[in-house]
Amino acid sequence: MPLTSAPPLPVTEAQRKILERLGPLGAERVPIVAALGRVVAEEVRAPFDLPPWDNSAMDGYAVRSADVAPGTELPVVLDLPAGARSGQALPAGGVARIMTGAPLPDGADAVVPVEATTGPSGEGRFAEPGERVRFDAAAAGGDNVRRRGEDVGRDQVVIRAGDVAGSGGIALAATVGRSTVSVVRRPRVSIVSTGDELVDIDEAGAPDRIVNGNAYGLASQVAEAGGVPRILPITPDDPEAIGAAIASALEDDVAITIGGVSVGARDWVRGALEEAEVEIVFWRVAVRPGGPVAFGVAPGGHPVFGLPGNPVSAQVTFELFVRPALLRLAGRRACFRRPLRVELAEPVSTRPEKSYYLRVALESDGAAWRARPTGFQGSAMLSGLARADGLAVVPQGTGDLPVGAQVDVLPLGDRTLFRTAP
Ligand code: AMP
Ligand code: MG
Repeated sequence: MPLTSAPPLPVTEAQRKILERLGPLGAERVPIVAALGRVVAEEVRAPFDLPPWDNSAMDGYAVRSADVAPGTELPVVLDLPAGARSGQALPAGGVARIMTGAPLPDGADAVVPVEATTGPSGEGRFAEPGERVRFDAAAAGGDNVRRRGEDVGRDQVVIRAGDVAGSGGIALAATVGRSTVSVVRRPRVSIVSTGDELVDIDEAGAPDRIVNGNAYGLASQVAEAGGVPRILPITPDDPEAIGAAIASALEDDVAITIGGVSVGARDWVRGALEEAEVEIVFWRVAVRPGGPVAFGVAPGGHPVFGLPGNPVSAQVTFELFVRPALLRLAGRRACFRRPLRVELAEPVSTRPEKSYYLRVALESDGAAWRARPTGFQGSAMLSGLARADGLAVVPQGTGDLPVGAQVDVLPLGDRTLFRTAP
């Protein structure tokens, strides 16, 4: 069947076809803090136990628990601040003053917090070495002691290859001695805008010209997805110029073209991709906005996305098709946003032949979210996109939906994660 007669693909099928062609990029070694949010590409093991020795969980007194009963008074014979040497012995008949984290002395089996004692200068006050301390209650072996290796055992895996590094994992890796870690490379993504009508920002307002706003919107989407964007110069609607721009773009891990991918008289992008021997996997999806969207694989294996020029179409198709691809290249296994299930605050009207991704604002009554379309849903309506907190999904085969209908919303940005009150 010739490509031109292939029916538009359902969105999820198009997404599957993209991901099945992509795998993680190579790895690079980065300083440990720079690993935040990146996919770790090696297994990190602890070369020693954590904690490295039995130590105190409280500021107080290390004791032999058998020595301590309500009212017992004992002398402080050893002082163990944090940083004290491990392996010191607790002389019989005495207790050690010990601070949180300090190594438990040999012979001691429990720590009594200072609050449960009376020192020479009153309740809950520390006795100095040489002074006596009175215990309010009995102690039991193991009280307020952190055992060697109870957190992490020597040789235990602390980060698995494929984990996304968070701040907790970074603290752990640093604690076991890692100053650098191997992570999957960030995808470099070039952006080619096509159109005789386009000018750059510094010519905004020029007669008969449109600013190449898409390149900036998409570059920020690339960055948000963890990629490194490169905006190429605006390319005129000329097959040769587009071919040259695509060749340059293919030097990066991912090439994105904007515009010229539909059936307009001067839509040269698909032809230029074929000319560059890009295998076109699909070029039409049953989606609104953004039906004319192409995905291909260049001879070197680099993915190419031909996004439509209408700004809303470009950003929505990026969200649906490019973002998951960048996450997969960056080594992530979970590449799709988890939707919120919410009620529609207004009825919506769609045609069943396509899946719709409506720009919605999310309103909260403190408990549940409701989704309200941000005005007219035209694919050139940037203001509605700028106000949107998410995309409400009306799947293919659905049609109109009444107010109160449940829909999935793909949250954009992080508004749903924050609130003004603590
Ligand atoms: P096209 O997909 O080339 O037919 O373009 C569709 C619409 O999107 C036209 O109105 C273009 O002017 C507009 N458009 C195309 N590319 C861009 C761009 N890079 N930035 C802003 N608008 C664009
Ligand atoms: Mg165009």
